[in-house]
Amino acid sequence: MININQLIRNNIKNLQAYSSARDEFTGTEGIFLDANENPFGTLNRYPDPHQKALKAALAAIKNVQPNEIFLGNGSDEVIDLSFRIFCEPGKDKALTFTPTYGMYDVSAAINNIELVKIPLNAAFQINWDVVLPLKDDAAIKLIFVCSPNNPTGNNINNIEKLLQHFNAMVVVDEAYIDFSDAPSFINLIQQYPNLIVSQTFSKARGLAAARVGIAYGSSDIISYYNKVKPPYNISALNQEAALVALQNNQQTNVEIQTILNEKEKLIVALGTLPIVKKIYPSAANFILVAFDDANATYEKLVAQQVITRNRKSVVNNCIRITVGAPNENDALMKALQQLNNTQN
Ligand SMILES: *Cc1c(COP(=O)(O)O)cnc(C)c1O
Repeated sequence: MININQLIRNNIKNLQAYSSARDEFTGTEGIFLDANENPFGTLNRYPDPHQKALKAALAAIKNVQPNEIFLGNGSDEVIDLSFRIFCEPGKDKALTFTPTYGMYDVSAAINNIELVKIPLNAAFQINWDVVLPLKDDAAIKLIFVCSPNNPTGNNINNIEKLLQHFNAMVVVDEAYIDFSDAPSFINLIQQYPNLIVSQTFSKARGLAAARVGIAYGSSDIISYYNKVKPPYNISALNQEAALVALQNNQQTNVEIQTILNEKEKLIVALGTLPIVKKIYPSAANFILVAFDDANATYEKLVAQQVITRNRKSVVNNCIRITVGAPNENDALMKALQQLNNTQN
């Protein structure tokens, strides 16, 4: 059985967490002269540092306990804190599978952690022959696996092998899970003490502007995230926005279904264009598409005010296209058809 305690940096284990005014007195009734706030106004009070209302709502929906939930200022905070909790700068390493989300690399560099990058195979799956022997590298304390993966769009298979074989924390980044048929790993947080599941309000929940990310894990692990985070990392406005988004679950589901229908339509339409060389399978709300000349296509789309993500440097001649609203997808296809006609 994996010993999670061995994976926590000593300074984090020994850290005395900041105790805020809102920690010391947790009631809601009274005259508050404890936090040096301005007594006037509507946004004048510090927010709940423990985000209790939002965690209670999430716990009910996801069938976990509130103490198995950490809320971050976007999942980007979950990624950064993961490095800070588990990896000793200049000494420990993290592992990921490329091409994938760029923040793992940036966050590793900021924290002075070596990120070992193992290329996914031609099907964008983990190359186990290369990856499994790395379990003997004791410096690898943290693994990031993104599924569905950004920018390739596919679900990653057999992630449990990482949880079973590595003496490391495994962060499964499920930013796009709501668009996928694959089951979430949330149900396995009790079974695997080294599992952290990262989700976000930024994609399917439609709250990218609010910056609310989520980590699910055993209460032991989650307690370290809570200890390390800045006390008021989620503003009152953003806690409220996320709570409202959860209450609008039905609306979110309608939007997800619309996006998935639009994706299927886009895949068919893109398939008719000679400048399109390959459309990769997608379990997310975007499609990775290989073109004759990704740079030229990208630039010509920009000229038509259609902005896509040029991933040419990551996957040969590929552009990542977010599935938009029906009129936006129509505009994309119109621009691509024009471009196709001028190039042939
Ligand atoms: C968009 C995205 C996120 C979301 O990050 P936030 O900070 O929550 O907005 C996380 N992981 C991946 C792989 C993403 O593509």
